[in-house]
Amino acid sequence: MQKGKIGVTSENIFPIIKKFLYSDHEIFLREIVSNAVDATQKMAAVTSAGEYKGELGDTTVRVAVDKEKKTITISDHGIGMTEEEVDQYINQIAFSSAGDFLEKYKDDINAIIGHFGLGFYSAFMVSEKVEIVTKSYKEGSKAVRWSCDGSPEFTMEEAEKDEFGTEITLFVDEESIEFLEDSKINGLLTKYCKFLPIPIAFGKEQEWKEDKMVDTGVDKIINNTEPAWTKKPVDLKEEDYNAFYKELYPVHEDPLFNIHLNVDYPFNLTGILYFPKIKSNIEIQKNKIQLYCNQVFVTDSVEGIVPEFLTLLHGVIDSPDIPLNVSRSYLQSDSNVKKISSHITKKVADRLAEIFKSDRPDFEAKWDSLKLFIEYGMLSDEKFYERAQKFVLFKNVDGKYFTLEEYENLIKENQTDKNKSLVYLYATEKDEQFSYIQAAKDKGYDVLLMDGHLDVHWVNQMEQKFENSRFVRVDSDVISKLIPKEDEAEVNLSENERNELIHVIQAVTPEKGHYLVNFEDLGESSKPMIITQNEFMRRMKDMGGMSGMNFYGDMPDSFNLVVNTSHPLVQKVLSQEQKALGKDLEAIRSEKTPLTEEKATLEKEKEGKKEEEISQATKDRIEEINKAITDISNKEKEKLTAFGKKSKLAKQLVDLALLANNMLKGEELNVFVTRSIELIK
Ligand code: ADP
Repeated sequence: MQKGKIGVTSENIFPIIKKFLYSDHEIFLREIVSNAVDATQKMAAVTSAGEYKGELGDTTVRVAVDKEKKTITISDHGIGMTEEEVDQYINQIAFSSAGDFLEKYKDDINAIIGHFGLGFYSAFMVSEKVEIVTKSYKEGSKAVRWSCDGSPEFTMEEAEKDEFGTEITLFVDEESIEFLEDSKINGLLTKYCKFLPIPIAFGKEQEWKEDKMVDTGVDKIINNTEPAWTKKPVDLKEEDYNAFYKELYPVHEDPLFNIHLNVDYPFNLTGILYFPKIKSNIEIQKNKIQLYCNQVFVTDSVEGIVPEFLTLLHGVIDSPDIPLNVSRSYLQSDSNVKKISSHITKKVADRLAEIFKSDRPDFEAKWDSLKLFIEYGMLSDEKFYERAQKFVLFKNVDGKYFTLEEYENLIKENQTDKNKSLVYLYATEKDEQFSYIQAAKDKGYDVLLMDGHLDVHWVNQMEQKFENSRFVRVDSDVISKLIPKEDEAEVNLSENERNELIHVIQAVTPEKGHYLVNFEDLGESSKPMIITQNEFMRRMKDMGGMSGMNFYGDMPDSFNLVVNTSHPLVQKVLSQEQKALGKDLEAIRSEKTPLTEEKATLEKEKEGKKEEEISQATKDRIEEINKAITDISNKEKEKLTAFGKKSKLAKQLVDLALLANNMLKGEELNVFVTRSIELIK
């Protein structure tokens, strides 16, 4: 028997291995099983090259648990190892500046395992003793038993083994007995080994016999050795892609689209990405993409490898070229990884463009689900923004879809304002903004529907990118102001009438919120009053609400109350007021006339004089007059306000405008209903 010390410069590697992140201990199985798979694949290669003349035999890798002996055994029918090879590959662990490296990557078990080629040694994370019995396929080889109890000392001796291949037995330590549970091993195999290229057997298939499930003689194979991504796209149908999706995510609905990645230059990468079907925005889960290295599962957190917005996609990426066994920060700065990332972006964009071109109706049907990904991509990735120009769609309130170019052509003629700026009208809520949408349509305008999660941001982005264009929500002003044209009707009100109406109507605006009364000639067939909210203010508030930065979010809502001066009911309010207050107001104003005249004379005297040349008496008199005029105006305002508060018609018109905006609620609504009944009686 040979005894020796494992060639590690550091006194003892095992405590270091053991110490590593407990949660990562489970990777031992992945390491041992993938070694077995490698050895089996090499054996197949050796056989087909004619270096081995015999039969290849059953290539299944077997995993078995013995609860009594507390062992896990992994056996393969691979190339095996000669005594010299065990010495070379197992005993001599290439080890350099261990201390530094361990310190640097102490949080990243993958990095450590990769760096030291410690795959096999990860067995010691869960074992007090590990035994290898192996026999090389090479002619005349003798079987070897290698055993090590976790100290750097090992033993090596001749063993009995009929067939070539390797059997590794882990004597599981006390802290790790959970790994002796079938369900645990099953779970680990499903997680890490589900798509390994060589069949992995664990346990037996079961069948129903005499009232219970019993093992059959047939091995239960836990993996699919030929997952869809390893096949050629021409050999796969839509159903195959969907079936593979189900294999990855059993409970998900069928995806919208798939993208088969297949790159061999300048790096190797295969995979299938899926656009999942999403029913609501809340449902989106990031990090569903699984990363594989030659069909061995590595991780499902792929930030830094795929572009941020694509982490919303599902699927598999497999690349032997992504340096998996290094730390995450290294990965993110790796130039290969960057290339991969931009390549995937390009592929995804190309594929979307292709689907759009080949089956636009299908693309449109799926747009509502797709939109979130595409907008997210456009917002977060400049290159993707450019590429998306070909297929990104606008949807209008009637459910029609347009490319950006088509839409521009549609509205160019009619929605360009007098300053040559193209106005994109949009609504965020079809029902609530119905009357505004209708008003726009009556003018022959088109209204986009922007009801998605990211639409506010997207609108901002496009506004910055599009030249001479702006986006306005349909209810942010009256339609003639949203797209001002040359031939606007002038408001036909005298100074006094304007003043009177403002006070009367202001008196009946809601106490909550801030309402600014202004006048427009909207024509007799438009509504008497309309409430709008300034686009800029609303957007600021929306964004404030979203990002939690609440400067604008906290401001009181302020609205415009647009009064249609040519509407008969507005005229009626005015004439009722003039009938009731006409004489009083005339009297009040007549007091004002001499004062304003006197003030005008005094102001004229002041003209061209320096401040010190004006007499104190003149200054005092002007101040007196100003005060008197203010008092008179206030008197006027009081009268008008008192009238307004009693005017059922004025109140009714304001309430109707509020109602059209879904802003009349609770007690106010009840009062409105009662008043309406009274008015109809
Ligand atoms: P790595 O797999 O990264 O090279 P490991 O520590 O996992 O590092 O394995 C070291 C070497 O031991 C392997 O490269 C291989 O030559 C040999 N080896 C490990 N397991 C087996 C096996 N089941 N059959 C044959 N050779 C094996």
